[in-house]
Amino acid sequence: MSDVYRIKENSIWAKLAAKRMKSEKLAMVLGNTIHLYNTSYQEMLQNRRWLRHELAHIRQFQQYGWVRFLFLYLIESIKKGYYKNRFEVEAREAEQDFYLEERYSFSPRPGQERRIA
Ligand SMILES: [Zn+2]
Repeated sequence: MSDVYRIKENSIWAKLAAKRMKSEKLAMVLGNTIHLYNTSYQEMLQNRRWLRHELAHIRQFQQYGWVRFLFLYLIESIKKGYYKNRFEVEAREAEQDFYLEERYSFSPRPGQERRIA
């Protein structure tokens, strides 16, 4: 049985993060939802490596729970910065983890249709 994930486009949270990261486009995870700024759910679904990275963050939310994960992520970011943050290190390693694509299945929001890349 697979867990469901969702994708939210034009997310205010992703927009704020993009400004902070000085990133043209950005994806970030909150709970089981991938929030996007300046990119589409189709692009996300077609870029499987990028998708697996974000699915790894969804798994982290599940492992630690919202409050604990956000707290630990913040501490890591303060101590080590973005790139060496252990949750980012883990997510980068998970970019090769094809099992993540089997574990999670995309559940379209209203107006989004499932598109298999
Ligand atoms: Zn990440």
